Amino acid sequence: MRINAERLHENLRQLAQIGATTGGGVTRLALSPEDRAARDLLCRWMEEAGLRVRVDDFGNITGRRAGAESGAAVVMASHIDTVRRGGRYDGAYGVLAALEVMRTLDDTGVTTRRPLELVNWTNEEGVRFEPAMLASGAIAGRFTPEYVYGRTDRDGATFGEELERIGYKGERSNRPGPIAAYLELHVEQGPVLEDAAVPVGVVEGIVGITWSEIIADGRADHAGPSPMPLRRDALVAAARMISGVDDIARAIDGAVGTVGRIAAEPNVINTIPGKVTMSVDLRHPDATTLDRLVAGLERLASDVAALTGVAIGVNRFWTSEPTPFAPEVVDAVQTAAEEMGITTRRCWSGAGHDAKYIQEIAPSAMIFARSINGLSHCEQEYSTPEDLEAGANVLLRAALRLAGIKGERTTHKRG
Ligand SMILES: [Zn+2]
Repeated sequence: MRINAERLHENLRQLAQIGATTGGGVTRLALSPEDRAARDLLCRWMEEAGLRVRVDDFGNITGRRAGAESGAAVVMASHIDTVRRGGRYDGAYGVLAALEVMRTLDDTGVTTRRPLELVNWTNEEGVRFEPAMLASGAIAGRFTPEYVYGRTDRDGATFGEELERIGYKGERSNRPGPIAAYLELHVEQGPVLEDAAVPVGVVEGIVGITWSEIIADGRADHAGPSPMPLRRDALVAAARMISGVDDIARAIDGAVGTVGRIAAEPNVINTIPGKVTMSVDLRHPDATTLDRLVAGLERLASDVAALTGVAIGVNRFWTSEPTPFAPEVVDAVQTAAEEMGITTRRCWSGAGHDAKYIQEIAPSAMIFARSINGLSHCEQEYSTPEDLEAGANVLLRAALRLAGIKGERTTHKRG
């Protein structure tokens, strides 16, 4: 059994027309008129595919395909909101591939043992309403409805008002689930699969992230009359910190480290910088290793301070713990790919996804399809039709393994 690739690509093409940008991308911010139009189209397609469609109190859209048994469903999900001038496949691919799975099962007359559900999560990107993954977080109990409804965009409009305005505020009783297993198919958003020359990634989890602020306190002074040995140049200290962060991350397998934001004061051509504030983003799949990375950052700060005479403070102000996915769901994805003869690579997601929160309430895993040059959150984001087809076929097989087929004895473990 294979998905109909033509139908999937045609749907991707049609959805990408809603909010299409001149540069070939999509701007479809959460709860915008474009989001509403895309939701309307998606709901129509879901109904045409025979799904029972419901909308919950956060605007999440769920389409259910009955199984031989009632009760907990195998859920396939992603999102159709985008960033500004984002790509055509980020999110939309996972939703439309899940729809294609449902249609393929209809075409082949298959009834699964467990029901299947397709979910479109509201506001995954967090561009219009921060934070990201707001609705899946609420479903997982991380955010209260009051918190969600009160989030405001930069024009002061609230999530709650905008949800009602586009006509997608439904009932609490319409929330997705109960969830027997959760699958999220997504384009990779990084270059690892391309580098490994494989089309599909079996995602073992979402990495932990920690953010620190670094303040280097030196002494501002005239650039002319201040001899080099007598300076306390905060930007020179910051430069050593930046290259040190790079060294720390390179020394540990699977770690990444980034200084993405920096401000020097007074930022004047003929004044020695007196103060520098900068950010450090460190990521790793393992929480203990993440702590080791921060310890390395603190050691680096004291070494650089001793060397330069600049006081350096490290404030670790935010951490998102690593989320390992459920081994039985990861194995279902791996086995599904092997059955299809599709080569894969095990990987971790360096970016957040709704699966992070859903893993807290149900066994979950993700599937990645290769991205050309690893580009995402930009108009140049691209995956080949062949790779998109391969990922969707893995989703189909994995969902069948997890849901079971009526009349067949099934196992979720690898044989
Ligand atoms: Zn996404």
